[in-house]
Amino acid sequence: MSQKLSELSDAEWERYARQIGPAVLSREGQARLKASAVLVTRVGGMGGPAAQALVMAGVGRVIIAHGGAMISPDLNRQVLGSEAGIGRLRAEHFAERLRELNRFVAVESIDHEPDDAEADAFARRCDLLIACPPTFEERLRLNRAAVHACKPIIDAAQWGMGGTLIVLQPGQTACLACVYPEQPPFEEFFPVVGAISSAIGSLAALEAIKILAGAGEPMLGKMFVYDGLRGLPSVVALRRNPRCPVCAGSVHGESAASDREAR
Ligand SMILES: [Zn+2]
Repeated sequence: MSQKLSELSDAEWERYARQIGPAVLSREGQARLKASAVLVTRVGGMGGPAAQALVMAGVGRVIIAHGGAMISPDLNRQVLGSEAGIGRLRAEHFAERLRELNRFVAVESIDHEPDDAEADAFARRCDLLIACPPTFEERLRLNRAAVHACKPIIDAAQWGMGGTLIVLQPGQTACLACVYPEQPPFEEFFPVVGAISSAIGSLAALEAIKILAGAGEPMLGKMFVYDGLRGLPSVVALRRNPRCPVCAGSVHGESAASDREAR
């Protein structure tokens, strides 16, 4: 991590007391969280719990992006929503809810999904990206931005009672375009149960916290798959595509070379 470590106040150390110690975060790790900025795009079923966990854990700046106004069917999974929020702009409503959780962090919101230039700008500003959009177009856009800026990205996806989590570090691991060279078909009103959305979103936040704080062993280069209908978890190791149009080439020449030596 390159960012400068931040000082925490006594009140902040008190807030985070339960997550500092053996098997959790070091004090330095907590300070690293405070110095970090994370972009979460689409803060609905998965991104909402992810953003919530990051804010509560003390990530210094959480930037959320989500377009449109809340509708009733959102409330089977979008934990940052509320009955009173129906009809309101999601980004604004969700940001208010997040700010109520932790006075020590900054929450920024944008009321639309970033385009190519915005995604690149956010990836440069942030230390990590969490991508929770339903469309592959958006997921692959965020992946490209992460590769351009060489920032870790966590891709979360849900369908029915199952979900996947992909944890990527450009230059070291495959990228999302290596995993999905062609965009699978998109279903606008796909089935989903909120419990799986929250589970996958929370795990995305846990991986982000580990990466940012330097704790544990992040699932880098792996895809976690949970078949919730049958209660079956599995982990798949992901391979880089040497001809990937996004991550192959000169940008990460050094890492590509060390990958070759490792083989
Ligand atoms: Zn790739």
